[in-house]
Amino acid sequence: MLFLSSGVVSNLQGDKTWRQLFSRGGDDFIFGICSLVFGDVNFCGLKGAVGPCSLGSTSFFCSQQIQFADDMQEFTKFPTKTGRRSLSRSISQSSTDSYSSDSSDDEVSPREKQQTNSKGSSNFCVKNIKQAEFGRREIEIAEQDMSALISLRKRAQGEKPLAGAKIVGCTHITAQTAVLIETLCALGAQCRWSACNIYSTQNEVAAALAEAGVAVFAWKGESEDDFWWCIDRCVNVDGWQANMILDDGGDLTHWVYKKYPSVFKKIRGIVEESVTGVHRLYQLSKAGKLCVPAMNVNDSVTKQKFDNLYCCRESILDGLKRTTDVMFGGKQVVVCGYGEVGKGCCAALKALGAIVYVTEIDPICALQACMDGFRVVKLSEVIRQVDVVITCTGNKNVVTREHLDRMKNSCIVCNMGHSNTEIDVTSLRMPELTWERVRSQVDHVIWPDGKRVVLLAEGRLLNLSCSTVPTFVLSITATTQALALIELYNAPEGRYKQDVYLLPKKMDEYVASLHLPSFDAHLTELTDDQAKYLGLNKNGPFKPNYYR
Ligand code: NAD
Repeated sequence: MLFLSSGVVSNLQGDKTWRQLFSRGGDDFIFGICSLVFGDVNFCGLKGAVGPCSLGSTSFFCSQQIQFADDMQEFTKFPTKTGRRSLSRSISQSSTDSYSSDSSDDEVSPREKQQTNSKGSSNFCVKNIKQAEFGRREIEIAEQDMSALISLRKRAQGEKPLAGAKIVGCTHITAQTAVLIETLCALGAQCRWSACNIYSTQNEVAAALAEAGVAVFAWKGESEDDFWWCIDRCVNVDGWQANMILDDGGDLTHWVYKKYPSVFKKIRGIVEESVTGVHRLYQLSKAGKLCVPAMNVNDSVTKQKFDNLYCCRESILDGLKRTTDVMFGGKQVVVCGYGEVGKGCCAALKALGAIVYVTEIDPICALQACMDGFRVVKLSEVIRQVDVVITCTGNKNVVTREHLDRMKNSCIVCNMGHSNTEIDVTSLRMPELTWERVRSQVDHVIWPDGKRVVLLAEGRLLNLSCSTVPTFVLSITATTQALALIELYNAPEGRYKQDVYLLPKKMDEYVASLHLPSFDAHLTELTDDQAKYLGLNKNGPFKPNYYR
């Protein structure tokens, strides 16, 4: 069920200062962001597209609240370490393996080490502070493709929309998140950060953050105990109390609820990125236990579109190439599921000359596949002839043991869907079959007659397990997170209730606009006459909230 709540955005003159734009109690916050981004009309090559907000009184600020479905998991359950956390989105492992510390370094737990940064601070716990310089280079590389966040910093200059914000964060700690964290700091926030995944921390990046003065508690290969200890060190601090939460997976939020519920008296809002974390928030909301407003970043249009379609369009090839060195030209590939992820995979494979088949249960998606030039088949019809099988349905048992038995020698099988339920891997762990690990994340499963099936990442998400996620995609998510934090932190009393909100379409449009300069894209501006004809405000939003 959808509810709409609205606030009113009042006049905003283009010459307002940052402090005015972001002052609490004003209703002009979103246009504050607009001015931040577009105030200098030459800055982003979007002259006139969204001007410096010389709009009249506009009532566009509609946030959707979605009531949560009944069947979500209980919030009070502790998550399993190897399940959700290791599959969570937006992990980039671009350099997790690129720095090898000496072995003595690996033997000592970071919790046992006494480390200080060059300014004498030891307000952090990372693997090795000496890796900071290398981590800084990684961050600088990520910055190249995250120009939207860099532009937010530049626009901020002396004015700090997050001045006074004390953000406690729990996300993957990668070069890309470091760019986000440092942007939040540049906008005035104090940050304490832990990792949402025990394996995904780039140690050198954590070191660079610690060197720069961020209180970061994270390293690659934390134990379960370390994981909660790091979160606790971020929350439970003498003389410092968080007033904002940025979470990816809901573990931090869970910890605060369980251990330090009084912290919520000061918290102005939670920004949550992941599917799982968002589900938990809706569950809390439904149970009447959510005591602060929360922003659901996961379901924002830009994040979903880019994460699912465009990201997978690139990373499917990356994952397959890195693991198998396969050449796609002329190969026969079947893609199970023609949703956003499937469409991305099919487009990429087709472009490289592969012959692509699609399986679908939904006639609309099946028809789309036909229109796009793909043969829609049942898996059993093509299973004997295909060279590659890719699942991306979000469903279970899509590839069964029967299918696996019928595949030809050297057929590659992999999954791009969220969980490892799509391929029946359990059915392959039988005594009659031999497993041979030929490379990291690559197993040959060998039948008694010598036939081999090439199984990637044991049926887990191929791209997150075997390749990287493009920085540009993460930039979109990170920018959305930053704007959501700014909005919640500065929202006037009463704009947000104790509920879960989707970002308004307008904010999604801002995020997209911020990324257009990377392509020197020039938006067309509606004429007054055209705007009237379409019944739109010239400055957006240009589509209804439900438009995807
Ligand atoms: P979607 O709902 O748009 O598409 C899934 C499609 O699969 C639907 O069209 C559905 O009709 C079809 N389907 C369901 N069961 C099927 C079956 N048995 N056989 C054939 N088709 C079937 O979802 P999406 O956005 O494409 O995401 C798909 C999965 O990928 C989800 O699990 C999602 O969490 C995951 N995902 C992965 C990544 C990544 O980076 N790998 C990114 C985003 C989402």
